[in-house]
Amino acid sequence: MIAEIISIGTELLMGQVLDTNAQFLSRRLSALGVTHQRRSTVGDNPVRLKETYAAALGRADVLITSGGLGPTGDDITKSVLAELLEEPLVVREDALARLKERFSRMNRVMPESNIVQAAFTKDSIILPNENGTAPGAIVPCDRFGAGKIVIHLPGPPAELEAMFDASVAPYLQKRSGSALVSRYIRIFGMGESEAETRVKDLTQGSNPTLSPYCSPGEVMLRATALCSCPSEGAAMLAPLVSKVRDRLGDVVYAVEETDGGSLAKTVIALLIDKHQTLSVAESVTGGMLSSMLVSVPGASRVYAGGFITYMNERKEAFTGVRHETLTRYGAVSEPCAIQMAEGALLRAGTDIAVSVTGCAGPDSDERNTPVGQVFAGVAVRGRAYAKALRLTGSRQHIRALACLHALNLVRMELIKGDASALNE
Ligand code: ATP
Repeated sequence: MIAEIISIGTELLMGQVLDTNAQFLSRRLSALGVTHQRRSTVGDNPVRLKETYAAALGRADVLITSGGLGPTGDDITKSVLAELLEEPLVVREDALARLKERFSRMNRVMPESNIVQAAFTKDSIILPNENGTAPGAIVPCDRFGAGKIVIHLPGPPAELEAMFDASVAPYLQKRSGSALVSRYIRIFGMGESEAETRVKDLTQGSNPTLSPYCSPGEVMLRATALCSCPSEGAAMLAPLVSKVRDRLGDVVYAVEETDGGSLAKTVIALLIDKHQTLSVAESVTGGMLSSMLVSVPGASRVYAGGFITYMNERKEAFTGVRHETLTRYGAVSEPCAIQMAEGALLRAGTDIAVSVTGCAGPDSDERNTPVGQVFAGVAVRGRAYAKALRLTGSRQHIRALACLHALNLVRMELIKGDASALNE
C-alpha cells in the first residue's frame, strides 16, 4: 500500500503556518508500515488541487488530505475531489444530526453555511470529529484503480491527530495487515562514527533494521521490525536491542517505544526510582538546564529548583562561591563549578546538585577563556567534583550541549555513584 499526503491551504504556501500535520502523518504512516513516497502542498485553488489529486491518485493507493473541510468558500477539499470523481456531494442525515448536536452543546444555532460539512459523496465513510465541527471521510476512488481511497482530515492539528488515531490508524492497519514496530535507542557520550562502527554489522539486517540518526550532541539508533502485530515486533526487536546495549554500554541512556525520549526525562525517572532530589546552579546556561528538567512531566517530585548565578557576585551571594576562587581562578574554572554545586546542594537541601559555568562566545571573556570551555560540577553529600568540557558550535549550541553534559553527569552519578572519572 503506497500513501501520499496532500496538505491544503494557502496559509501553508505563504509560510504563515508550519505544516506540522504532514510531519505527524508521516510519522504515523511509517509506524504503521505504510509506504509513504511523496507529499504535496497546494493552496486553496480548485484547478491546482484537481491536478494534484489526479496525479497522486495515478501513483498512490491512499491519499491523505489535511485541511479545507470548513464551511467557507475557500474550503474546497471535498468539492474538488467530488468533481474529479463526477459524483455529487449529498448531505448525510447522520452527519448533519451530529453537527447540529455539537452546536447545541455549545449553546449555538448552527449556521446554514455549516450544512456543507455534512455533505459527502455517496459511498464515503464518515469519520467523527470529537474536537471540532468538520467530520473527516474515507472516500472510495475506484475509478482511478480498484481499492484506491482519499482520506480527508481537518486542518487543526488537535482535530487531525485525534481523528487519525481514533479512526484512520485502525482502518489502515486492517487494510495493510502489517505494522512497523520501533525501538529508539538513545545515546549520549559517544560520537556518531564510533557508535556506528561498533554496531556496523547490526545495521546490515533487512528485518529488523537498525539505522543511526544524529541530533545536536546526541546519537539515536532506531531499530524497526516489519511484523504482523506489536507483540511479534517486540519479540523480533528484543535480541537486537540487547546486542546494541552490550556493544555500547552505559552511553545508552534510554530505549523507548516512541521518539520522545530525552536525557532530562531519563534523569527525572532515575531520580524518582532512587528517591533522590536534585538542584542546579547555572551560569552559562542561564536557566536552560532547569527548563529542560521541568519540561518533563512529574519533575516536581524530584527537582527542587535552582540558582541562576550569571554575574560573579550572584555566584557568591546565591551559592557561596568564595570571592578568592573567582579572583584567583575565574568563574569558568573547576573550583568555581565545584563550589557552585556544593552551594546549591547545601542551600536547596537536595541529595544531588549540578552546576554549569562556561564561556559560550562568540568572544572570549576578560580572562581569555576559550570559547566553548565549560565546567560542569556535581555535588553529593561528602563529595564534589567537576568535569572540564571543550564544546564547539554557536553560542546556543554550546549552551545546549553544556546542559546535556550536566544531565549526563547526574545520570552517571545516579547509576555509577561517582562520575568524576568519566571520560566525556
Ligand atoms: P476549520 O473547520 O477549522 O476551518 P479546516 O479543515 O477547514 O478546519 P483549515 O481551515 O484548512 O482547516 O485550517 C484551520 C487551521 O488549522 C489553520 O488556520 C492552521 O492554523 C491549522 N492548519 C491547517 N493545516 C495545517 C497543517 N498542515 N499543519 C499545521 N496546522 C495546520
